[in-house]
Amino acid sequence: MDNKKVHIKSFGCQMNKLDTALVRSALDAAGFVLVESVKEANVVLINTCSVRDHAEQRVLSHLGHLKHIKESKPDLVVGVIGCMAQRLGEKLLEHEAVSIVCGPAQIPQIADLVTEALRHNKKELSVTEQIRKPAPQTGSDALEEFESAYGLADKQVPGQAFVRAMRGCNKFCTYCIVPYVRGPEVSRQPEAIIDQIKRLADDGIKQVTLLGQAVNSYQYKTAEKTWSLADLLAAAAEVEGIKWLKFITNYPSEKYFDEILHVMADSPKVCPHLHIPAQSGSDKILRAMNRRYTADWYLALLDKARDIVPDIAIAGDFIVGFPDETQDDFERTVDLVKKAQYRNCFVFKYSPRPGTTADKRLEDTVAPEVKQARNVELLAVQEEISDRLSRSFLGKDITVLVEGPSKKPHLNAAASGNNPQLVARTAGHWIVVFNGPKSLAGQFAKVKITKTSPLTLFARLT
Ligand code: SF4
Repeated sequence: MDNKKVHIKSFGCQMNKLDTALVRSALDAAGFVLVESVKEANVVLINTCSVRDHAEQRVLSHLGHLKHIKESKPDLVVGVIGCMAQRLGEKLLEHEAVSIVCGPAQIPQIADLVTEALRHNKKELSVTEQIRKPAPQTGSDALEEFESAYGLADKQVPGQAFVRAMRGCNKFCTYCIVPYVRGPEVSRQPEAIIDQIKRLADDGIKQVTLLGQAVNSYQYKTAEKTWSLADLLAAAAEVEGIKWLKFITNYPSEKYFDEILHVMADSPKVCPHLHIPAQSGSDKILRAMNRRYTADWYLALLDKARDIVPDIAIAGDFIVGFPDETQDDFERTVDLVKKAQYRNCFVFKYSPRPGTTADKRLEDTVAPEVKQARNVELLAVQEEISDRLSRSFLGKDITVLVEGPSKKPHLNAAASGNNPQLVARTAGHWIVVFNGPKSLAGQFAKVKITKTSPLTLFARLT
């Protein structure tokens, strides 16, 4: 079949990137050829994100573009996979450009869906009818088999791989669509995860990042014991060849918190990095978000983390302009950011997501220009903190894991011979750039920090 050329475009979070990698690998195994451009492709798959309205708008505009392409290439098969496919289902299938709509739980069927669409030129829908229906916690379901078969190194970032620890989410933060598109929390079997990590290590992978929407909720009961993320990290640290372990994202919770932090403190392989979104510094807003903690409690949790792992780098996320967020609420968020001393934090402007509790019950009261101003102000506060923290690295020798050549080289980095500028990460997840041979991609390197900026450390090879 010479029409098996697939182009995949991916939007969204790390979880989506992992799904894209699995789909890519499954299509490759089914004899499809992955191509870099829409022009060369007979099939275009878009892996979508529903977390923010902006992400969905970008997908819709991309579909508009594909509709034009289909006018001159009517046999082009366009498939939408991921969260937006689950959220919109049939409505999305009505779009003129779209032939396949496939939810995140149906990706094991993707090769068949594409083959059918190519063969019969008909529309294919595959989503979960009752997304919150408890999924069986066995290792034999289709998703688990799919993950085990295709969850090998994606090779997009040399030397690194992402491994799903759990799917779905049970937290129901009122602004968030994830529980409605990814379904209930299901922790994967620890044996399956460790086996996957061993195979990745055999394939040359040095860093594994365990993924979950609230990965610290990981819990799996076996006949012998109940596994937590701490147990999983400890077992993964035993895998020969794996040098660094990271995990994202954490929900602020005391359950297993000490155990996870103690494994981090005790194992040189578990990187001292904790991404733990607070979302707001106002207790009133936290309540309205259904985040189950107060600002003081959250800060005490960070203190505890720093007591157990003194060199820990902490990162956070915030939403500004949540319904009824007053200037006073926002100032409490600024105050929390100042106290939390994050390495970095991401700030998002609230956008109502259809189907969420916040959208159903709360009015989007904060004006767009106020959201924008709060976004800018909070980022400026964080920038000062990041700048000060990054300066503490000046003159230090550190080990980094090299990702590869910079896509957009920093102009103010020191040049060195003809070597390209490389991007790397520290164990604490700081970005480091330096000039070095391309062959370092996927390898550890020792560098000296010569210059800093709030988000980037500049270095030279030692
Ligand atoms: S923890 Fe909250 S924000 Fe994170 S995925 Fe679950 S519901 Fe969404």
